[in-house]
Amino acid sequence: MTTPSATTGQQAADRIPVRIWSMNGNRDEVGVHFRDQDLRACGLQDGDRLLLDINGAVVRGDVCIDLKGPWLGTQKLKAEGWSHRRITDALRAVGVDNPSEHVALIVERNGLVLPATESHELQRRAAALAAAGVSSASAAGSTTPTKFERVVQEFARSPAVVAEVLRIAAGRCELCDCAAPFLRADGSPYLEVHHVRTLAEGGADTVDNAVALCPTCHRLLHHAGARDREAALSKLRERVTRLSPASV
Ligand SMILES: [Zn+2]
Ligand SMILES: [Zn+2]
Repeated sequence: MTTPSATTGQQAADRIPVRIWSMNGNRDEVGVHFRDQDLRACGLQDGDRLLLDINGAVVRGDVCIDLKGPWLGTQKLKAEGWSHRRITDALRAVGVDNPSEHVALIVERNGLVLPATESHELQRRAAALAAAGVSSASAAGSTTPTKFERVVQEFARSPAVVAEVLRIAAGRCELCDCAAPFLRADGSPYLEVHHVRTLAEGGADTVDNAVALCPTCHRLLHHAGARDREAALSKLRERVTRLSPASV
């Protein structure tokens, strides 16, 4: 493994636009190409080894710069089980049209796993590493994780709505009907108040758009796949009659 030089500055470039080409209808030949200026903007150069997530397709390769311009070479990867076939199959999964444009997430660069500050992105990177077969070397993490400051837009929420929803729930999750998993320091049952139609989507901060959930059900509504989420929402609609039609 090469020793990666630390990326410094405000934000390491961790995304790069790519063009995916298939050779005239021959779907066995799929290539990932970069633009010179994008490569430069990301500080990438000939020979850099990359693990990319391209719309969920995980591909590994090295930057090759030749007469055709920069592209992702895969020829040195046979020893790791990254056959050309495996990579073409992954790329086909993102739907190759001649050419199709995507923005690739750089998951690993010369053996260095790029960190994430946001949980959705952390999960996406972890899934890509799992698909690629994470190595114990790259799982080393850091004893001094980098801190970032960021500007976040928050909605001012009504404590009265939270209090009223918790009062109605009376210590039980309104989705699964389980008792709150533990008590807070003040002795009140721990439940989380969730907006069924999120405030970001234009949902109202009102009792008829909010439910009290156990942590597991709350996570489910935010992170489950479409099928589980739909099932949970229709159960909520059935169980919680105060919800307004606009919220569900
Ligand atoms: Zn629950
Ligand atoms: Zn929520």
